[in-house]
Amino acid sequence: MHMNYSKMLSCGHQGVPFGYPLCTHVRVAREGYLSCVRWYTGRGLDSERLCGDCAAARRRGEAVDVALVCEACFAIATEDISEVTSVGGQPEIRTRDEAISKTIVRTLFPESMGPVLDVAPINELFGAKWLVLASNGALVRFDSDSGVCEQLVTLTLQAAAPAEPWWSRVNARLHVSGRGEFAAVVNDYGCDGTIVDLRTGAITISLEGGNYKSNTVPYAFAFVDANGRTLAIHRTKWNRLDVSDAATGALLTTRESPSALPGGPDPGRYRDYFHGALVVSPHGRRILDDGWIWHPVGVPTTWSVERWIAGNVWESEDGESRRRLAWRSYYWNRGGCWLDDARVAITGIGDDDEAMLDGALIFDVTAPVKAGQCPEPTMTIPGPAGTLFSDGVSLFSADAKGLSRWSLSGGALTGRIAGFRPGYYHRGACELVQRDGSALIRWRIG
Ligand SMILES: [Zn+2]
Ligand SMILES: [Zn+2]
Repeated sequence: MHMNYSKMLSCGHQGVPFGYPLCTHVRVAREGYLSCVRWYTGRGLDSERLCGDCAAARRRGEAVDVALVCEACFAIATEDISEVTSVGGQPEIRTRDEAISKTIVRTLFPESMGPVLDVAPINELFGAKWLVLASNGALVRFDSDSGVCEQLVTLTLQAAAPAEPWWSRVNARLHVSGRGEFAAVVNDYGCDGTIVDLRTGAITISLEGGNYKSNTVPYAFAFVDANGRTLAIHRTKWNRLDVSDAATGALLTTRESPSALPGGPDPGRYRDYFHGALVVSPHGRRILDDGWIWHPVGVPTTWSVERWIAGNVWESEDGESRRRLAWRSYYWNRGGCWLDDARVAITGIGDDDEAMLDGALIFDVTAPVKAGQCPEPTMTIPGPAGTLFSDGVSLFSADAKGLSRWSLSGGALTGRIAGFRPGYYHRGACELVQRDGSALIRWRIG
């Protein structure tokens, strides 16, 4: 019966069609190089590989000859003869009309606060409480429901050391612990920061991350609550993260930095990895690191915070729980969020920033993987772009088009709010929030 599968293919060989359709020029070329378009056909995520001329014809609405070839001819066409350098067409974006609240509340900060540098949601306190960093260094707790404000501490903000802008200029970024007891003000795309105990005003840790290519990444930092303690995960070198007790500054991950050089300490553990923005899962069990590897390939990576702080100080280098989700040239500092403590979503379908399709990949990072391999996404949703958030029920993406809501069962677009582009998720208050100067623009999920 299997014999029936075999047939004469467009390449002239008897066999089973392999891969996806190719234009005639890509199919027949046996020398030279063709810069190609990955053309999405509008049926699911089906795509074809078209040369520049065929892609132009497709854009004009003309018929283009595409066909499948055998495995050997596919390998020659896609590995030796041509390379995908851009995407075209559209994938199928499924939509399902569901009710979505259009109620948006605008809450102003009191004028006395002055200009605001950044805000951070206090997720574990009752109500919709925020920590606000004013430009004069004041850290203010702000209840966005009642408007009540309480100035806690004033920091002396250091002018950030000038750095060659690459991704972005150095800018102050505020982090706050779950119950609002500690804050960190760090310099994204810079190399330093400060942790302050908001109950006493004491500076507990002066953060030093080193300046090696620090202008390529937000300062790697996250608070996590573990067994009643607040821990800080922070960059101490371009390729090293540490965990410290936020209250005492005690280091929990004492280890000698591995060396790339033979004869140095632990060369097998050396990682050529520039740590980037960190996102901790809802209960602090895992972490997503949006970092990159020379020469520049974004490699979003996850590992278990629980294992890391329970004693394996190397979990961030080569722990059993470590998962490298994808390899994408020039593609990092992108959207990423946890759906729960096992599933994580990242933006971007493709492997090069010049040929990426808007979309989200979802991984279960608790599933076993073969050594050295990336896990397969459990779901691919074409469409989401920009910043990602999730309450575990839906995936939200925020970009220039506004806020979009995507179903986690099936991936359909279930609602959109044009013109609303939140940058924060207040998990405690179930709100997505955009900061607009001295106002919070708030939208309640569900
Ligand atoms: Zn062609
Ligand atoms: Zn063939």
